[in-house]
Amino acid sequence: MIDWNEFGFNTRAVRAGQVRSDEGEHSEAIFPTSSFVFKNAAQAAARFGQKEPGNIYSRFTNPTVRNFEQRLATLEGGERCMATASGMAAIFSTCLGLLKAADHIVASQSIFGSTVTLLNSILSKFDIKTTFVNLSELDSWQAAIQANTKLLFLETPSNPLTEVADISAIAEIAHAHDCLLVVDNCFCTPALQTPLSLGADIVLHSATKYLDGQGRCIGGAVIGPENLVGKDIFTILRSGGPTMSPFNAWVFLKGLETLNVRMQKHCDNAEALAQWLEEQEAVERVYYPGLPSHPQHELAKKQQSRFGGIVAFEVKGGIDAAWHVIDSTQVMSITGNLGDVKTTITHPASTTHTRITPEQRRAAGINDGLIRISVGLEDIEDLQADLLRGLI
Ligand SMILES: *Cc1c(COP(=O)(O)O)cnc(C)c1O
Repeated sequence: MIDWNEFGFNTRAVRAGQVRSDEGEHSEAIFPTSSFVFKNAAQAAARFGQKEPGNIYSRFTNPTVRNFEQRLATLEGGERCMATASGMAAIFSTCLGLLKAADHIVASQSIFGSTVTLLNSILSKFDIKTTFVNLSELDSWQAAIQANTKLLFLETPSNPLTEVADISAIAEIAHAHDCLLVVDNCFCTPALQTPLSLGADIVLHSATKYLDGQGRCIGGAVIGPENLVGKDIFTILRSGGPTMSPFNAWVFLKGLETLNVRMQKHCDNAEALAQWLEEQEAVERVYYPGLPSHPQHELAKKQQSRFGGIVAFEVKGGIDAAWHVIDSTQVMSITGNLGDVKTTITHPASTTHTRITPEQRRAAGINDGLIRISVGLEDIEDLQADLLRGLI
């Protein structure tokens, strides 16, 4: 067996995890099968008795899903990856696998909306409580930790204001209190940031975003050490059932092959668009970690290889002006999704962040004039022209 970890990122992205069948197929095969047959009764008994490794049933393991898992594990630099039915299933399975009743979580405030609902409304039913803290204030992470805290959870850069968390510093705080640090690496992907190498214990993904990159499938993944991901989290998947389908795994593993080239181009376009937006009269403020005006630009430079594809900006004139910019576009897609080759544009205050009160929104910096763009791979001149239609 080849140890892919000895090869470069792009080689791993294209090659790792593939096991050719006797047919000699060049591109990875899909195995859309629910169960697997045994040579004889003795082999069935050995497989079920865990005396012989091998496939039994696709809720447990599937060759195409494993191919995706092994490829993503090598890209994140983790021992083990478990693919899940969605990004939320990855977060849910991680919490269920690692926590029990009366445990406590500390999470950053500015995380994905469904993650907040999961923590506040679902896990709380099982007496697992969450304290939310400001992502960039190390003191508040430290202060929120209780005797029963088991897990620290963050996303960096945050959505939509692209705040950056100091992963190494928060990992140190976590480990000083025997807690695990879990990082949702959806925005950067391993092409730009590898949280495990910065001290995080577990990395999560919504594969729905950049890993697919073309907006086709819902999926997720958990990556980390064998003793956590391969045991407690695998048990949740095996018996709880939120597994990834072989077809989706195939789409995602082909997506990984082009991940780095796509991310580089997303970054090129986002950097150019952010700089251009900063020069526009009608724009009040631009949020992008790659801009020297970003408060955590230096930190982003240190822990990310580049700054990602998400740009937010505030227009003068509040909601009317923001909706005018959005409605004047002809190229960009008005949709909440992100991480697609197609540029998407949203108004967070009236969509993703509409369920929190106006006061909470203002406190979080989600003003009425704020627009979020997930910058795609179209020609940058066309994207600028598309925004200019509504900016003047
Ligand atoms: C989309 C998203 C999720 C949830 O992923 P799904 O695949 O939609 O379940 C979690 N975290 C972040 C940062 C996301 O953008």
